[in-house]
Amino acid sequence: MNLDYSADERAFRDDVRGWLRDHLPRALRDKVVSYAHLTRDDLLAWHRVLAAQGWIAPAWPAEWGGTDWNVVQRYIFEEECGYAGAPPLVPFGLTMCAAVLLKFGTDAQKARFLPRIYRGDDFWCQGYSEPNSGSDLASLRTSAVRRGDRYVVNGQKIWTTMAHMADWIFCLVRTDASLERKQDGISFLLIDMRTPGITVRPLILMDGGHEVNEVFFDDVEVPVDQRVFDEGKGWTVAKYLLGHERMNTARIGTSKRELEHLKAFAAAQRKDGRPLTDDPRFRDKLSRLEIELMALEITNLRFLDRLRGGASPGADVSMLKIKGTEIQQMLTELMLDAAGPLAQAVASVDGAPLADETLAALAPRYCNMRKTTIYAGSNEIQRNIIAKQALGLG
Ligand SMILES: Cc1cc2nc3c(=O)[nH]c(=O)nc-3n(C[C@H](O)[C@H](O)[C@H](O)COP(=O)(O)OP(=O)(O)OC[C@H]3O[C@@H](n4cnc5c(N)ncnc54)[C@H](O)[C@@H]3O)c2cc1C
Repeated sequence: MNLDYSADERAFRDDVRGWLRDHLPRALRDKVVSYAHLTRDDLLAWHRVLAAQGWIAPAWPAEWGGTDWNVVQRYIFEEECGYAGAPPLVPFGLTMCAAVLLKFGTDAQKARFLPRIYRGDDFWCQGYSEPNSGSDLASLRTSAVRRGDRYVVNGQKIWTTMAHMADWIFCLVRTDASLERKQDGISFLLIDMRTPGITVRPLILMDGGHEVNEVFFDDVEVPVDQRVFDEGKGWTVAKYLLGHERMNTARIGTSKRELEHLKAFAAAQRKDGRPLTDDPRFRDKLSRLEIELMALEITNLRFLDRLRGGASPGADVSMLKIKGTEIQQMLTELMLDAAGPLAQAVASVDGAPLADETLAALAPRYCNMRKTTIYAGSNEIQRNIIAKQALGLG
């Protein structure tokens, strides 16, 4: 097993790092590293810089704008972006819907949607979860009844990230409720968010932020040519997509940058007149976190080595989601520990700055990051996957 980068891979990493240094707009980077709220315009601004460079969709086939990078290069690129403090790329169009279209879409669907996703013309969201159908996704009930060349959709989605900003939503709907196996009779539809009958209502998370929504469908008419793959075979599409969702949850580059920031921040804090990093309890937690992150990186490199050899990542790739998100949460916990009462600071009163904005963002961020162990398949569900498919239990 080879856990080192080759000379070519190191040269590629240096090229990417240099390019990011020159092209990542300072204002965007500052927002990311201070945990500021990123608007749709911020996200699209970075999307368009990468699109102009031809690097927005490395995993796509070259004919649709992919870079022809191998899996290691793609990983290096993602981690360098995270390490540099680049805004995250919204995955719903670029990674998820595109992967489905490339695998299951008709030529007409690819030609209609892929170039717009590439350019950032359309913002997408993911309509999978419903009330009572999250982990048990196959029990979903939103119905789509065929009438001529249209489906009529009725039902509700929940926790739909960015639905309030989205132009399109990809949805799992039930086209046949008479079948015994709940995975049968599901179809995959692409729906224009401006279609009459769609209502989006905000759900405010415990950090006070608006990123998720409820989406209601009342007699929403969807042309049949916006169904991807066969009617009733949407579960095949859904499973394919969930695999893609899981591959990119470790976010090692971002966690490394945040760990460096945490160390510098803690070294500057005083406890009993000494740097906080001298405190044995704090140092112990910090060391454990750093070791976990190193172990995660090595595990990730092991997966990459598997992929280099042409093998599939396997069910144990769920480890990356579990450990990656636990580390992201631990980082926010230790930042709060280090900041102590400073984390209660508010950024401003009546527009006048009161405290460092990064400090004021710490407590909301701590609350916000609780989501990471729930979304993209909760960590309990990931453990079930490892138990059943990797360890052969149950
Ligand atoms: C911030 C955020 C953004 C999201 N964005 C989207 C989105 O854009 N689109 C979308 O479709 N969905 C989205 N989701 C929904 C997410 O996929 C679900 O919340 C998740 O799948 C869990 O489903 P649930 O909320 O219904 O909880 P439940 O499935 O009811 O689970 C509740 C608890 O029980 C545990 N549990 C459930 N079943 C088992 C089991 N068999 N074994 C062990 N433990 C179990 C779970 O781990 C969890 O802790 C988002 C969620 C969050 C929090």
